[in-house]
Amino acid sequence: MHYRPLGTTGLNVSVLSYGASPLGGVFRATDDNEGILTVRTALDLGINYLDTSPYYGATKSESVLGRALRGVPRDRYYLATKVGQYGDGIFDFSAERVTRSLDESCARLGVSYIDILQCHDIEFADVNQIVNETLPALVKLRDAGRIGHIGITGLPLKVLTSAIDRAPAGAVETVLSFCRYELNDTALGSIVPYLREKNVGIINASPTGMGLLSERGVPSWHPAPPAMLAGAKRAVDYCKSVGADITKLAIQFATNHPHIATTLVGTASPENIRKNVAYLDEPIDFELMAKVLEILRPIHNHNFTRGRPENRDAVIS
Ligand code: NAD
Repeated sequence: MHYRPLGTTGLNVSVLSYGASPLGGVFRATDDNEGILTVRTALDLGINYLDTSPYYGATKSESVLGRALRGVPRDRYYLATKVGQYGDGIFDFSAERVTRSLDESCARLGVSYIDILQCHDIEFADVNQIVNETLPALVKLRDAGRIGHIGITGLPLKVLTSAIDRAPAGAVETVLSFCRYELNDTALGSIVPYLREKNVGIINASPTGMGLLSERGVPSWHPAPPAMLAGAKRAVDYCKSVGADITKLAIQFATNHPHIATTLVGTASPENIRKNVAYLDEPIDFELMAKVLEILRPIHNHNFTRGRPENRDAVIS
């Protein structure tokens, strides 16, 4: 496993890290014991960064992750969770709610300290509230030593940069962007220089585009428009036809950007996490990658967006 510095947080994070949303049954019904074994396997293989949220499976992901971490020395992993988004489409970024949320997450996770606490999907929030109320509340928690660092997450890139521009200096230490740095979409790359200049650490999530670049395909809730689904399927089918695994290529591609500190991959299967870590040491088949990028070219940077109208990116579809 290789490690990279996460902005100026002082955390040295594994280039591939573990996203715990599948532990909440987000993609399919999962077996908790398998999920727990997956987390333990990830740690044994050198993954040191774990990401969850009270939103995933309406707190289930945090509870199962907490069970997986029972008895594991706290200095073996960095733990990130989120505030502001909860089950049943509830968003509440008020200072009171996010402060209480930290206590609830710590109880479920069985820890007293969170390394990175993130405002979860700020495109659904009033950015004025994030800047003037939520982040100051998190700064207080950081000053009190309850959390190590503060981050923001979201799908549209524009809302991430606009929040950083307006936030008090040093309040936003990391961003988590998803589905914007993978074989079919490299838009996150365009804001990497801006984020580096602002000393913001970069976390990339969903290297398979939430299943788009996998043989199993996407869950029913996946927001990609039909042309994007069809375009991605052409690449998946091509890889299958030449005996290659598109997920391997997807993980190698996402983790290969030198300034993206880490890429979160989700799975509740010990076998898949083993495979995903092994891919990092296998040589990249650049000929195959070029062919797959060519197949994906018609849908390159095609995307979907969401959130409040003022926070959305322009959609290419
Ligand atoms: P992902 O691209 O990691 O895809 C997960 C899917 O890929 C799952 O269905 C999984 O079973 C499958 N998969 C994983 N390894 C595989 C393998 N070797 N072979 C075949 N299939 C494989 O998408 P994700 O889970 O959405 O993203 C990763 C993590 O990032 C999440 O779990 C979450 O922690 C985080 N995330 C955060 C946000 C946010 O904060 N807004 C958004 C998206 C993701």
